[in-house]
Amino acid sequence: MIVGDLKPLAEIVSAIKEYKQVLVLGCGSCVTVCLSGGEKEAEQLSHELSQIRHYQGAPPKFEVGSILRQCEEDLVLEYQTIPAGTDAILSLACGAGVQTLADAHDPLPVIPALNTTFLGASAKPGNWTEMCRGCGDCVLAFTGGICPVARCAKSLFNGPCGGSQNGSCEVGLDTPCAWAMIFYRLKRQNKLHLLEKIRPLKDWRPGGAGGPRTRMRVGLGDGSKT
Ligand code: SF4
Ligand code: SF4
Repeated sequence: MIVGDLKPLAEIVSAIKEYKQVLVLGCGSCVTVCLSGGEKEAEQLSHELSQIRHYQGAPPKFEVGSILRQCEEDLVLEYQTIPAGTDAILSLACGAGVQTLADAHDPLPVIPALNTTFLGASAKPGNWTEMCRGCGDCVLAFTGGICPVARCAKSLFNGPCGGSQNGSCEVGLDTPCAWAMIFYRLKRQNKLHLLEKIRPLKDWRPGGAGGPRTRMRVGLGDGSKT
């Protein structure tokens, strides 16, 4: 899932203070699950932004709504409850949702309330860890299902660096060394031979080096067309 974090309040206030009526719009998918951008968070943010202490003049008027997935144009267009007089939308979606909303309502300004941070998973309640960077050429089959791109601080592909100590990464004792995890996972799987093959330099082009990536599904097993 996509994980996002609320921007600093001062940054949000600075971006919206010129408007008179702002729709604070939550998204019902990933950012709801990671407790940063759902309808409840939109209500809380609207309440906080209504406080006059954040402004030198009068605060904007706020309305609150939510769309199931702001990254789907159909769902965005179905949402017909933008109140008359709205002169900006404050979106609590990820960057994809903000842009879909901005395209659908052009030229109405759509302002992000979140910083989109990573693709991650939750190992325990309220705690998410980055798991994938969408590199476009997944190597998990060779690394015991542990991503060396997102989970190794140096995105190494052929084993650990010299900073790996007792299972921890050199960036901090609380950060597991991805390559130590990969080694022990492959050992448990009796697949350590996978580490004997030197992996060539990674081709980063499928990771977006050629500009924005697009996909059209053409059927199971037929792959995807770009
Ligand atoms: S190898 Fe690439 S696609 Fe696979 S999990 Fe890592 S970043 Fe994501
Ligand atoms: S210590 Fe491990 S996770 Fe950290 S940069 Fe080196 S190989 Fe990567």
